[in-house]
Amino acid sequence: MPEAHPDSQQVIQDNRDYTLFSWSAQAPLHPIHMVGGKGSHFFDGDGNTWLDFSSQLININVGHQHPKVLQAIKDQVDTMCFAGPSFATDVRATLGKKLAEVTGLAKSFFTLGGSEANENAIKMAKLFTGRDKIITRYRSYHGATMGSMSASGDPRRWPVEPGLPGIVRVFDPYMYRPPMGGTAEAWEDGCITHIEEVIQMEGPHTIAAMLVEGITGSNGLLIPPDSYYPRLRALLDKYGILMIDDEVMSGFGRTGKWLATQHYGIVPDIVTCAKGLTSGYMPLGAVIVNQKIADYFEDHFLAGGLTYSGHPVSLAAAIANLKVYEDENLFEHTLEMGQYLGLRLEAMKRKFVCVGDVRYIGLFSVLELVKDKKTKEPLAPFNGTSPEMTKLAAHIKSKMVYAYSRFNFLWVCPPLVVTKEELDHGLDVYEEALALVDQMIAG
Ligand code: PLP
Repeated sequence: MPEAHPDSQQVIQDNRDYTLFSWSAQAPLHPIHMVGGKGSHFFDGDGNTWLDFSSQLININVGHQHPKVLQAIKDQVDTMCFAGPSFATDVRATLGKKLAEVTGLAKSFFTLGGSEANENAIKMAKLFTGRDKIITRYRSYHGATMGSMSASGDPRRWPVEPGLPGIVRVFDPYMYRPPMGGTAEAWEDGCITHIEEVIQMEGPHTIAAMLVEGITGSNGLLIPPDSYYPRLRALLDKYGILMIDDEVMSGFGRTGKWLATQHYGIVPDIVTCAKGLTSGYMPLGAVIVNQKIADYFEDHFLAGGLTYSGHPVSLAAAIANLKVYEDENLFEHTLEMGQYLGLRLEAMKRKFVCVGDVRYIGLFSVLELVKDKKTKEPLAPFNGTSPEMTKLAAHIKSKMVYAYSRFNFLWVCPPLVVTKEELDHGLDVYEEALALVDQMIAG
């Protein structure tokens, strides 16, 4: 049991007084004072142990404080803390080779996170094709830098609009809520055919790339039909449009594979990744390009760079982290735990009025909450919240389970090292909260 931190309240106050927190008006905030962690748990300044059912920001895949990743960071710090981005380094060679092996692509360009990775992927796609437009999906998030934020589809882009010119959006493979009141059966075909129509209307020769999350994460975990990616791959190839696969959240074991799109047997032209690349132990992102794009930049200027591109300590963390995935068979464990999680989620859908849909793949899953299963009226409006969602989140938090909820969605995304007992504990707490919501709905 961790000990209470004597100055915890002061630390929180100083954080509030001297720093700015993301995605919030600052006044209502009361952040948890986090002081450490181990595996699926983290500890707060009051001496509490929390079950991390969100892997922080769905990134700490190997769990908190994995000794092998910590050691690799310490070793690299002792050897060489920094090398400028124009130098060749041992860690750069090792990680570049490994990323080519696991993705089936050719070369990596390193960034500090997912937003920068998408920013650079968009730039490279434009340079390579000589075209300007980028297709993205409405229910998507690609980052918070100006380009990646405006390429996103979800409401987080609104404050920076009009943002990057040339972004064209299409609808998502959201089979629970097909657009325009259609049926899921019709949308299985329509979710591809309408993209072709948009391509025609925009002019195929003007479109550089389509940027998609491998599996949409923070907009409700949308799992496409099996036919989606093979058909999309063929469609984009038909028009010489690149496929940029944003695997920042869905990649590196979260779904039980290196990339979520590997479930569908396709290879994108460009993969962007971050989060699970280092499990968050050090900041790192990557843009991984195919051979054709790599060859193009042999004799064309790559107009971009970052002081911290290829930071040796970040690369060392990534190498150790990827080795943990393999040495500890974490992807197999993810699939096994994911199967159990799926059974429990299906049971929750049957048991609670407010659970409209459950979607899961590996340890990447969501409950979509509704007021009425038949009408599918969301438990909170798009881009909003509701007394029911507030109650649900407050109950889960009061039981020291750290969960991610947004709009009418509640995620289950624990570290990939989670045990069946830990899953059961967190899901039991979720069930208590869902029972409270059902009571509220029943009035
Ligand atoms: N892309 C996706 C799919 C994400 O989920 C995120 C972050 O949550 C990003 C990009 C942005 O990554 P970062 O916050 O590391 O810049």
